Amino acid sequence: MKIECIKTYHLRCHLEQPFGFSQWYYNQRNVLIVQVIADNGESGWGECYGPADVIQAAVEKFYAPRLINGACMSTDALWHTMWRASLDFARGGVMTAAMSGIDMALWDLRGKALGQSVSQLMGGRLREQVPCYATGMYFLDLPEDQLLTHLVDEAKGYVDEGFRAMKIKVGKNPEFDIALIRAMRKAFPQMILAADSNHAYDLCEATKVAQVLDDCDYAWFEEPLSPEHSAQFRQLSDKCITPIATGECEQTRFGFQRLLKEGGVDIVQADLGYCGGPSEALKIRTLASSMGLNMIPHVWGTQFNLASACHFLATAYHEPGRREEKPLFLEYDRTENPLRDVIFTKQVDVSNGIATVPTDPGLGVEINENAMRSYVFAETETK
Ligand code: MG
Repeated sequence: MKIECIKTYHLRCHLEQPFGFSQWYYNQRNVLIVQVIADNGESGWGECYGPADVIQAAVEKFYAPRLINGACMSTDALWHTMWRASLDFARGGVMTAAMSGIDMALWDLRGKALGQSVSQLMGGRLREQVPCYATGMYFLDLPEDQLLTHLVDEAKGYVDEGFRAMKIKVGKNPEFDIALIRAMRKAFPQMILAADSNHAYDLCEATKVAQVLDDCDYAWFEEPLSPEHSAQFRQLSDKCITPIATGECEQTRFGFQRLLKEGGVDIVQADLGYCGGPSEALKIRTLASSMGLNMIPHVWGTQFNLASACHFLATAYHEPGRREEKPLFLEYDRTENPLRDVIFTKQVDVSNGIATVPTDPGLGVEINENAMRSYVFAETETK
């Protein structure tokens, strides 16, 4: 099987209700979808996390021409062909995001060709179901007292849907964040709660917030600090017991080695649509494991990234592991996004907060190309 054609689709939708986090507000969602078509007509699909228009150019202009006629099954060889082609001037960023979506599509294609799911290709499932945590509680443009009430109400909806874990956004300002952390714990004494600042704090602020997370028994503190200040993670970690999670802004085994060697990171959160793809994610997991850490992917996108992360967690071995295993929760974004929901005819099944790992060949999810059409903002084709 040879690669005959690589297509990309920049999908865009406008949101009915804009929402924000510590860095900016969204009023639309964009994603770059990659389709790799083999000479037998079979297709593999993937997606890239990051600015879709820029990544689209990287796939079309740079990587796709180098991959045409490549052997579809040789995912690792193709990855290193792409890596060496761009190493001199792009050891990360949007170029690596472009590689990630192509690599994800190649894993989907290889699975379909072999009649095996991606989790079988990754070495075999250790579990058929993966518990999810609801990602939501983004900021709305409301007075803070109304916002706090709104966020607690939103969280009640996830509890009613059966989730037993969820993640809130912090990083608006420390006073509001601390009030929100306490209000959520008071409203949901039994829930597994996590907080994500998206690198909004300096070390002093992060330390203050971490002490409140300790008091309120949160499960992790996500991106408390900038990934550019990796030495500060150790300093923060020395002052709190809440596990520190980070990695959605980091890429490749090389980048993660630099981030993790300083210490202070407890949970590794590479995104399979950004870190270099499933091929590189497996290497990052090996690196994390060698340091005694678990990798739990970041997921923000469509069913392709969700399914990739679900297969990845189905195959995850715990560090250190025990008979009554600690759950590794799949991130399940609950914000408005038709690009994740309505254009897929086959999705990852999530019921009562638990995902069933797809068993169909490849990623095991299916996009409806006709439904996708109404969201295509720009597309490319390389033969
Ligand atoms: Mg995050």
